[in-house]
Amino acid sequence: MDSAKRSRVEAWLQYGNDLGLGPYFLTRTESAVSSAHASTSPPSPSMNMASTAKSSAKSVAAAAASSVASSLGAKAAPSLPIISVPSGPTLFEAAERVPNETLDDIRADLGECTRCRLHKARTKLVFGVGNPKAELVFVGEGPGHDEDIQGEPFVGRAGKLLTQMIEAMSLRREDVYICNVVKCRPPENRLPDKDEIAVCSPFLLRQLAAIQPKVICCLGACSAQTLLATNQGISRFRGEWFDFRGSKLIATYHPAYLLRNPPAKSEVWKDLQKVMAVLGLQPKKR
Ligand code: URA
Repeated sequence: MDSAKRSRVEAWLQYGNDLGLGPYFLTRTESAVSSAHASTSPPSPSMNMASTAKSSAKSVAAAAASSVASSLGAKAAPSLPIISVPSGPTLFEAAERVPNETLDDIRADLGECTRCRLHKARTKLVFGVGNPKAELVFVGEGPGHDEDIQGEPFVGRAGKLLTQMIEAMSLRREDVYICNVVKCRPPENRLPDKDEIAVCSPFLLRQLAAIQPKVICCLGACSAQTLLATNQGISRFRGEWFDFRGSKLIATYHPAYLLRNPPAKSEVWKDLQKVMAVLGLQPKKR
């Protein structure tokens, strides 16, 4: 297939993936579709695997990448993580990608959101904070107690550690953009549910599309699994590079995990050094 035709096919498949139709591309059999419905994996915004990424990361990307590969004639790998098909408003919201929209447009569209049950217990919706033209975006899971009160992401204990990490990279908080997969605090800081992620993550995708950062750094499994459309454990692909809609994406451990497990800080620092290399940053001098 010539490259122009290939690009057109990939663009269509990307669009289908955005609509959550990835599993239908996978094999186009009824059993594949029904097992996709039964899956416990997160919603499936699109992801393209960087061709140079290492093999351990390949299966993480397989679900999304194979939707392109299989329709271009490649055989689907047998051990693919299954992508769930989002239902309800997600399908439509994901399709609502407005070209050239700003963060303010997206915030206005969210409004005083009542799209999922999380709105009931929230104090403040936590949209995101930082430089709208940031080269680096950090994506966490969802607001905690302090964030819910202040309406700003990562301002509690984990947030202070994130700020230290940012400063160690010789950046300031206001240089980067910080947001979460879900915008309202899950009660008792529980993990966001699948349907809550399905409703809220299109807004995250739109934020990322508006910012178009060079690098997206996923903090913890929730954001990494959501953006990479996988249910694999983060330790399987942490520190690997992925291509996410023109941005480079890397996942590292969540700062809250580092508070419980400080020895993992050295692993995270290695990941942040990879980010710094891509952004041409030198570590802060002490
Ligand atoms: N943890 C997150 O994932 N996000 C926040 O904003 C705060 C803590």
